[in-house]
Amino acid sequence: MADGCLFCRIVRGEIPAKKVAEDEHCVAFRDINPQAPTHVLVVPREHVASLNEAKDPALVGRLALFAARIAREEGIADGGYRTVFNTNADAGQTVFHLHLHLLGGRQMGWPPG
Ligand code: 5GP
Ligand code: ZN
Repeated sequence: MADGCLFCRIVRGEIPAKKVAEDEHCVAFRDINPQAPTHVLVVPREHVASLNEAKDPALVGRLALFAARIAREEGIADGGYRTVFNTNADAGQTVFHLHLHLLGGRQMGWPPG
């Protein structure tokens, strides 16, 4: 399953992506269809399909803190930003490799659509 997974392939460098940061656990790259001036996806190197399958609190925590680091580097930390996990159909999840959306650089509406 992880073999054909789009984000596993990006993590392995088999499919090009605009990577903004990576470490031994996480990779962050720009969304191909950005919904805000900054729209970065933070993913674990390890294949986890969604938040429903996540078991390791450290893995989920690392994604959040990695997003906060990128927000600082992108210059949106003080102005504000949104971090989102879409999980399954009602949330519109389309790629089943856990990813945290980091969106910023514009005013966000609430509630989200
Ligand atoms: P989801 O809807 O699953 O929460 O988010 C998946 C995101 O992945 C979407 O925002 C979509 O634009 C992005 N995406 C889909 N395919 C690719 C790709 O090949 N490269 C990159 N960089 N982003 C992608
Ligand atoms: Zn994967």
